Amino acid sequence: MSSLAAMDVAGRVPRLRARFASLEIDALLVTNLRNVRYLSGFTGSAGLLLVRHDVVVLVTDGRYREQAGEQLRAAGVEAALDIGLSADAQRELLAARASDIGVLGLEADDVTWAAQRRYATEWFPGASLVPTERAVEELRAVKDPGEVARIEAAAAIADAALDEVRPMLDERATEAEVGLALDTAMRRLGASAPSFETIVASGPNGAKPHARPGERRIGRGELVVFDFGATVDGYRSDMTRTLWVGELDETQQRMYEVVKEAQAAGVAAVRPGVSGRDVDEACRSVIRDAGWGDAFIHGTGHGVGLDIHEDPRVSSVATATLAAGHVVTVEPGVYLGEHGGVRIEDTVVVTADGCRTLTRAPKA
Ligand code: ZN
Ligand code: ZN
Repeated sequence: MSSLAAMDVAGRVPRLRARFASLEIDALLVTNLRNVRYLSGFTGSAGLLLVRHDVVVLVTDGRYREQAGEQLRAAGVEAALDIGLSADAQRELLAARASDIGVLGLEADDVTWAAQRRYATEWFPGASLVPTERAVEELRAVKDPGEVARIEAAAAIADAALDEVRPMLDERATEAEVGLALDTAMRRLGASAPSFETIVASGPNGAKPHARPGERRIGRGELVVFDFGATVDGYRSDMTRTLWVGELDETQQRMYEVVKEAQAAGVAAVRPGVSGRDVDEACRSVIRDAGWGDAFIHGTGHGVGLDIHEDPRVSSVATATLAAGHVVTVEPGVYLGEHGGVRIEDTVVVTADGCRTLTRAPKA
């Protein structure tokens, strides 16, 4: 990991604070753990981050006393660290830190109704609590070079893993065997984990976009959809390749050619200033013109980073425009029952004048 470019973690809290005025809040209570990690470098499974104008406070429990201090220092983040051994102790620490806050923002996508009631009545009775939406997520959408380097490293691991397991297609392996081999190869090559549950879907299973690998043996003349990725330092990659052994029938060949052309058109459309909808339409129009518009049954893509699905979205309803530093997938597909499915997906980073592809396994 030492060879990867550094991330600018310390620069993130100032960018968040710069949004407080437009969000009309005095401080933000960050409860989403990915957002806590993004802002502080802390990777523990429990913790709350209070971001005020004058100070950042990380409250967590005794298990993380050492780790939290180390991770804040390593990230170069200046934050007070409050350790509360019980939930009550953590509440008291946080309440004391927030006692003079007038308007406290909560993360509406993360806080349950029950938690909101607790915060309002027991934790912060003196503050006015307001919901905020995607305050941190919108910052996360634009990656710095260190973040891109991690996604690129994850993508390279996935590329190499697919290369290793390709011969299994000739050996009448089951989907589950191939999936396990992929996951194992990614771990051996340096991934901390798969970036989501690996999909290996052969024959008719490939017509279900989110099929789970099962005991089905991969046969000749079948399309096989591989959709998977690796995780490096918390950052994920996402790639789909459709492979086969033996001969495809005419319909399958045409499915593959159409999806390949659609995917290339989508990647070619990615640049700053275009909307997710424009990229989606670039893919969708190719598939529609081929007569298979109804067989492309999902959105074209999504942002990738600390989460496998994050901002920005790339679909027929995505009006937000792409900007340099966004990392998105382009993954059209055609799904036709007994013929199976074809999906091709790359993860790309938006550059000043276009995009650069991070997933590089060859396409058939
Ligand atoms: Zn995928
Ligand atoms: Zn994807």
